[in-house]
Amino acid sequence: MQPFKRLKTCLLLLVLTLVGSHAWEYNAGVGKADVTGPAAEIGMMGYAKQGQNTAGIHIRLYARAFVVEEVATGTRVVFVSVDAGMMGQLVKKQVMDQLELMYPGVYTEKNVVISATHTHSGPAGYMQYVIFNVSNLGFLKQSMDALVDGIVDAISRAHTLVRPAKIYVSQGKVAEANINRSPTSYDANPEEERARYPDGNTDKTMVQLTFVDLQEDEYMGVFNWFAVHPTSMNNTNHLISGDNKGLASQLFEKEMNPGVPTGRGGFVAAFASTNLGDISPNIKGPKCLDTGLPCDLEHSTCEGRTQMCVAFGPGEDMYESTRIIAERQYAVSKALLEDESGMTALTGSIKYAHQWIDMTKYEVNLADGSTASTCTPALGYSFAAGTTDGPGEFDFTQGTITGNPFWDFISGILKVKVLIHMKVFTFLEFIQGTISANQYRDYISEILKDPEPETVACHAPKPILLDTGEFKYPYAWHPTQVDTQIIKIGQLYLLAVPGEFTTMAGRRLRETVEKLVQEQGEDIIPVVAGLSNTYTHYITTFEEYQKQRYEAASNIYGPRSLEAYQQQYSKLAASMLTGEELPAGTPPEYLLDVQLSFIPGVIFDHTPGSLSFGHCIQQPHDAQPGQMVTAKFVSGHLRNDLLTSDSFLRVEHNENGEWIEYANDDDWSTRLYWERTNAILGESEVTVLWDIPQDAPRGEYRIIHKGYYKHIIRGLTPYIGTSKTFLVGLTRVIEEPVEEFFEEVVESKNPFAQLWKLIM
Ligand code: ZN
Repeated sequence: MQPFKRLKTCLLLLVLTLVGSHAWEYNAGVGKADVTGPAAEIGMMGYAKQGQNTAGIHIRLYARAFVVEEVATGTRVVFVSVDAGMMGQLVKKQVMDQLELMYPGVYTEKNVVISATHTHSGPAGYMQYVIFNVSNLGFLKQSMDALVDGIVDAISRAHTLVRPAKIYVSQGKVAEANINRSPTSYDANPEEERARYPDGNTDKTMVQLTFVDLQEDEYMGVFNWFAVHPTSMNNTNHLISGDNKGLASQLFEKEMNPGVPTGRGGFVAAFASTNLGDISPNIKGPKCLDTGLPCDLEHSTCEGRTQMCVAFGPGEDMYESTRIIAERQYAVSKALLEDESGMTALTGSIKYAHQWIDMTKYEVNLADGSTASTCTPALGYSFAAGTTDGPGEFDFTQGTITGNPFWDFISGILKVKVLIHMKVFTFLEFIQGTISANQYRDYISEILKDPEPETVACHAPKPILLDTGEFKYPYAWHPTQVDTQIIKIGQLYLLAVPGEFTTMAGRRLRETVEKLVQEQGEDIIPVVAGLSNTYTHYITTFEEYQKQRYEAASNIYGPRSLEAYQQQYSKLAASMLTGEELPAGTPPEYLLDVQLSFIPGVIFDHTPGSLSFGHCIQQPHDAQPGQMVTAKFVSGHLRNDLLTSDSFLRVEHNENGEWIEYANDDDWSTRLYWERTNAILGESEVTVLWDIPQDAPRGEYRIIHKGYYKHIIRGLTPYIGTSKTFLVGLTRVIEEPVEEFFEEVVESKNPFAQLWKLIM
């Protein structure tokens, strides 16, 4: 703390001398750090699809942070956008605990917002509530630590760089990058309300903050918000990826940080989430897989079947679609940075407000003077149907409401089926080993029992599939105490919401706060910061709720959730205007000590025959720009060491006799696939694909794979493997014998030799 204070004082004196005492209002810093979690054999967070486990890396995941301080008061706020499926209270708590040790009293849960981009291609296991971990067989500390450490690093880097800065806000439209995936729900909103929005059933506006370093007169970074799900990579993907948001960041950061490997450099570009609840990047829209015809709009089915109705596009495959949606966001972001005339400087005080509220019984004052309450958490039938971005694996369809005797009759059977698919029963089987038979019976009957009548009434017309608020075993399934928070920098109000607001829900929240602030004569640019601090699934309007599509079925606190949040965020904004601090509310339970995990650890790694770790078993061949080269290596398990801020692969270019890194595992042009080729003997392979960019310099290259292998007694050992060299864009002068594509693997068949090797 002391060195920073001294540094700050020096800067202050310097700038005071240079530009006078009122020339700038804010100090700011930006920072970024790697949060890539376990890239092998861990369930991916997002589609909750059976068997969609990590098996390599396409691009790495990052936390991107800004710290802003009001010079006059010293008040600080922090915003972090992190490439993760969602944010959780346990992660935030761990982050806050670490920050408190590093910078006592500076950062608290009140002035720090952590928002997830909602990529569906990151590892799971870091959430504390049961529902988010069952399909992953429980909690994984390695997943949580990767996020926590990276977020703390990103904030700490931003903190270290805090300096006199100017912050600008600008807005632009992003065309052809999003569609509404529940248009029939949207149309349930009043016609006169819909008529007020020329962009129709999606928000097209990107709001961007540009940070300028006043001393160096250079850009520090941009943070923007545009509504689209990072679900361009679909549920067949097994590679870690930041999806369209992560790639947009990479494209911008690569351009602004020339001459350094991908992932490095000081310029930070964050593409953060906002009210993306009903917004898909798959802009070709949903089609029937067999006929290519449009699906039934109301239920997203083809001849009654959910699984056949999937949305794609705009590319030929998910990689191309990701790239196109990323490029469209990046292009607008860059145009906003370049258009200084379109920028407005932020000016005014920095404030923040945070409160935990009990969302299971929040009293809502309705327009007609009566009151209503939010509900204990429950998921509806259509939750299991999934969406056209990733249909569920069950016989549920979207838009299912009560009053259908057929659904009611078979709901018991379907519930069992869903629970088996979600691995809930597998999870409970594991738990059974640690508890008595009676307790086990209690768990099962608690889940299979009918929801309480008051829960059913509160959620109507939602037919309840899982009354998670009533499940107490082995610990809480959903949050009760929910974070609500606003941070304000001048006229910018970031409404940090604990879930996925739909388009119209986001508009109503923004309008409510906007009206309240404007009535006080203040300027306001309201922005919804989605999936912040904790995750409570979706928030729809009351009208959309009646349609019970996926988003409404996942509106876990019932039909009045949005009105509760409108009321609550008004309260937060009012407290900021009056300066009257709200009570903190009751913090959520932190459940780290009771987390159960049945994810098998890595016991040992082993190589086939006499090969060593890192041995290149498939060599790359000469190629032209635009072609793809492949190299395959004997590898260890990728969970042995995450190689944070490092890389499992390097494509190296020979520059005058020196091997220089040209690409790493963070690059869009590379893909790292990992496969356990023999689970019993612990054998694995890594395959590196390099899609040679058109602008790659001609010359000699090689591919390197590095990692750690685990010995059953000696523990972890690093290894490195190097391919033969290959030429790009050149022809070899000396004829060489054609290399075998696959090198023969000499494998000892002697079981004693195998055993001896394992022990040694
Ligand atoms: Zn979502």
